[in-house]
Amino acid sequence: MTAAEIRVTLPDGSERSLPAGSTAADLARAIGPGLAKAALAARVNGEVRDLARPLPDGAKVSIVTDKDPAALAVLRHSSAHVLATAVRQLFPRAAIGFGPAIEDGFYYDFEVPRPFTPDDLEAIEAKMREVAAADHPFVREEVDRAEAKRRFADDPLKLERIDDLAAGETISVYTDGPFVDLCRGPHVPSTGRIRHVKLLHAAGAYWRGDERRQMLQRIYGTAWLTKEDLDGYLRRLEEAKKRDHRVIGKALDLFSIQEDVGPGLVFWHPKGAMLNFQLRRFIEDVILARGYQLVYTPHVTREQLFLRSGHLPLYAENQFPAMAAGEGEAEDVRYRVKPMNCPMHILVYASQQRSYRDLPIRLAEIGNVYRNERSGTLHGMLRVRGLTMDDAHIFLREDQIEQEIFDLLDIVELVMGKTFGLAYRLDLATRPAKKLGDDAMWDAAERGLEEALKRRGASYRLDQGGGAFYGPKIDIKFNDAIGREWQGATIQLDFQLPERFELEYTGSDNRPHRPVMIHRAIFGTVERFVGFLIEHFAGAFPLWLSPEQVRVLPIADAQIDAARTITGALAAAGLRVHLDDRSETLNYKIRDGEMMKVPYLAVVGQREAEAGTVAVRVRGAGRKQEILPLADFVRRLAEEVRTRALAPLS
Ligand SMILES: [Zn+2]
Ligand SMILES: [Zn+2]
Repeated sequence: MTAAEIRVTLPDGSERSLPAGSTAADLARAIGPGLAKAALAARVNGEVRDLARPLPDGAKVSIVTDKDPAALAVLRHSSAHVLATAVRQLFPRAAIGFGPAIEDGFYYDFEVPRPFTPDDLEAIEAKMREVAAADHPFVREEVDRAEAKRRFADDPLKLERIDDLAAGETISVYTDGPFVDLCRGPHVPSTGRIRHVKLLHAAGAYWRGDERRQMLQRIYGTAWLTKEDLDGYLRRLEEAKKRDHRVIGKALDLFSIQEDVGPGLVFWHPKGAMLNFQLRRFIEDVILARGYQLVYTPHVTREQLFLRSGHLPLYAENQFPAMAAGEGEAEDVRYRVKPMNCPMHILVYASQQRSYRDLPIRLAEIGNVYRNERSGTLHGMLRVRGLTMDDAHIFLREDQIEQEIFDLLDIVELVMGKTFGLAYRLDLATRPAKKLGDDAMWDAAERGLEEALKRRGASYRLDQGGGAFYGPKIDIKFNDAIGREWQGATIQLDFQLPERFELEYTGSDNRPHRPVMIHRAIFGTVERFVGFLIEHFAGAFPLWLSPEQVRVLPIADAQIDAARTITGALAAAGLRVHLDDRSETLNYKIRDGEMMKVPYLAVVGQREAEAGTVAVRVRGAGRKQEILPLADFVRRLAEEVRTRALAPLS
């Protein structure tokens, strides 16, 4: 090797010499023309960089192609630049905000005099195709602050960002054809690499997310490496739109949110309330069989309680403001509606002397709490202000952690895996740098969690340092029918609240000890879980959950009496049945039953009335009919409910 050469290490451990000043693109070319063509960026000592940047001597280098997980983010951020390039050509005075890659796509914020219309988006997308066809290279330059300010003199948003950059920070700008942007990069080599892109919609967004600043217009788009990926994503989006729980919730008359009462507060209509009731009953049965005890605690409390727990003043903005005390109390006493149950359950625990033999004590409450969520984040049932939590707090000894977590994971498997058939993932989050309690305590707790996960044979991901300062936790995530990931419930250990409330139990040594506390929910909130179930099942709930399980349809008035007898028999077996005796045509009634996603339609004609049978139409099975003796039909449905089957039994 001469002074005019550099050496780099490739992912397979081999080394290569290149002339000094060689770029990652040169390296890709030297390896082979196929790689040079597929190259999008490079990983240099772990950092993703432009292909066009010179390689430092001694670097570990890998070429980023479409197989690298970083490829999509680079492509999407580059797509955002192409979007801005197009917008600037059509709206030359548009000021430019932020344009990051996000999950599944990208956005860019623009300051423009009026919101973008669907026609604007179409024109912008057409212009983006021109920019891509021109295949402008993305050119990186490093500039000093004065030069950066000169380049963006006409854009106040960019000037503001330049002022925010720390002294000594490298300032880079990227140019693609007519457009130049303040940007850290990296980018794909040229705009021609952006081929499978689609603009989705535009929405208002405050500059820097600050509602005191001006409103910008944000354009969202998606970009993919292949046409199949883009088409697949657009199909999933379409499918998600059809499954929107707000749309289905209205069509099936499950719930509403009403202006008269306020945002984020859910009305459970009778059919939605049945879902809520069934879920509660299910989870209460599960936990009562596992040593939990139900409690009910007040919805409002003297503010003092949340000062003691430390929730105030820390989380004041997530709580509804204080209200005056009731008659007969001092002027300065303030009450709050509760945002969580923890301190309430602590008071139940602390209401008497506890012995080591009593532990674990598991207090559960499917109760309502209220949180002052920001109005902009509210979303149907998925994000609300009035929450029904399937909450429980477990008080236990340190040596009981492993077994308790093991048992909790068993409930998670029973509910998420066996009952709802969901593929879920567990994330174990461990101690952060700033934490409460000594290392020995954390060691014991983390070991307990990990041992329980291992003993269950659960696959889990380690989120090192991702725990709360007061204890490690396990997060549950699951996927829905169309592959979207949902954040589920959490199993959270807590060393802090027992300390703050000075909780104790008497040990076998007859001395006082401090218990550990676990906060846990399985559904999380009933609102969010029902919102999820609506979208996951697209309103076609399994039989045990369906608000209406069977609809009996007499063909003509002559069969109404027989239909009534059948309805009575189904109801007597505990099934939720409805007799549709309207004088409509059978076809109309069938269509209506199908639209309401009723799992079983039982048609009663002359033949069935005489033979004591029903002609059964199973949801989703099309026009197929099955003739069953009534007793068999009742037995089959009762069994399907009892086993909480996900699909019809046959
Ligand atoms: Zn950029
Ligand atoms: Zn709690």
